Amino acid sequence: MGIFDKFTKKSSPESVVASTPSQSALAEMALNLIADGVVIVDNSGKIEFVNPAAVTLTGCSNVDEALGATYQGLIRLENGEGMEIADGQNPLFLAVQQNVEFSSRDYVLVTIQGKRTPVAINVVPTRNEKIITLRDITKELEEEGEQTEFISTASHEMRTPVASIEGYLGLALNPTTATIDERARQYLTEAHKASQHLGRLFQDLLDVTKLDDKRIKVRLVPVEMITLVKQIADERATAFAEKKLKYSFGTQDEVGDNRVTIDQLIYAMVDIDFLREILDNLLENAIKYTPEGGAVWVNVRGDGDRVLINVTDTGMGIAPDDLKHIFQKFYRVDNSQTRTIGGTGLGLYIAKERAEAIGGRIWAESAFGEGSTFYVSLPRISAEEYERQRQIMANIAMMGQTAIQATISPQPPLQSSTNTVN
Ligand code: ADP
Repeated sequence: MGIFDKFTKKSSPESVVASTPSQSALAEMALNLIADGVVIVDNSGKIEFVNPAAVTLTGCSNVDEALGATYQGLIRLENGEGMEIADGQNPLFLAVQQNVEFSSRDYVLVTIQGKRTPVAINVVPTRNEKIITLRDITKELEEEGEQTEFISTASHEMRTPVASIEGYLGLALNPTTATIDERARQYLTEAHKASQHLGRLFQDLLDVTKLDDKRIKVRLVPVEMITLVKQIADERATAFAEKKLKYSFGTQDEVGDNRVTIDQLIYAMVDIDFLREILDNLLENAIKYTPEGGAVWVNVRGDGDRVLINVTDTGMGIAPDDLKHIFQKFYRVDNSQTRTIGGTGLGLYIAKERAEAIGGRIWAESAFGEGSTFYVSLPRISAEEYERQRQIMANIAMMGQTAIQATISPQPPLQSSTNTVN
């Protein structure tokens, strides 16, 4: 028996016993009146039920027309970039066929007449049916966009005065530019730290709003990973030295002494800005959460078809209960050691979002009091694929160059990020 049988005249005797007529009438009224579209398909993919909202959303003229269609024909989806999704890659179709749950807000429903509506889709499988719900999220997205825009503008605007406060406090604390007594120095040092914290908070908020900014596209380019990661990590040399941390890059030998051994080239397609954001956050944390005299080790290695980056420190470590949560938005470990260290709890969240956006994964292993290792794993490409991708990029750049000459535009259309690693 299908779950909708109790709402139809064809109800079996058991279903009549299971739900009183008034219940089924109420359920039917609710389904007819709700704004969410509901489509129920059976195991063979045949549409058993559609409510009026689903009829309107999909652009059908009436329920009978919708019932006559296949669910694949009725629910046509595009991705966020306006590209129709091939049936074999359509996550809704796959969820229905494989009888698994699915929910997403990343797709646009295209009606028979070509009208496009961003929707939240949910698939809930039951034993005999799949319940598909469709919710128009146009307004929701507009409101979220406005909210993001507001946070972005506000953080951007507030960063400038905060930087100025931080700068002046720095000048007041600098013996070559100001003379202050010891008590004033103590107060101003605290104010300086707080202004630095505020500056970082605004920067992190700005970075978080960028995560949701659909205008920022992932730009994957072919890179040699050891060179690129080393370059990013080496930029922290001064910060490591200031905190008296021993920094090393490369493979570790058996006795645990670090040394740089670059005997292999490892390639991947990455967005260099995203990778930089990920590593900057991990390196900054390694410095922040490792007491003076500790060590930070960064390495890149090939692991089958993945590239594995590790940022390892001998710092304060993370307790298992906290380890589960550190990648969540605004999560900060609260203990006597971390309380004195500034932070916003956004860095690892941003790193995770960025890693996933470039097809990667990020995780951490740690023992409280014994240091931590953060891993980033990314899809690896072969040397041949790397050369092929570089050739494609060179061709695109050349075509762009021709277009520039034609339009006499001062802007190069594509910054060749490959320059960074060669
Ligand atoms: P925060 O701005 O607080 O550093 P993050 O999202 O970068 O925010 O990190 C979340 C929490 O994870 C931190 O508050 C800290 O307690 C813990 N953490 C992150 N990196 C490390 C590390 N290398 N060693 C110890 N704890 C860490």
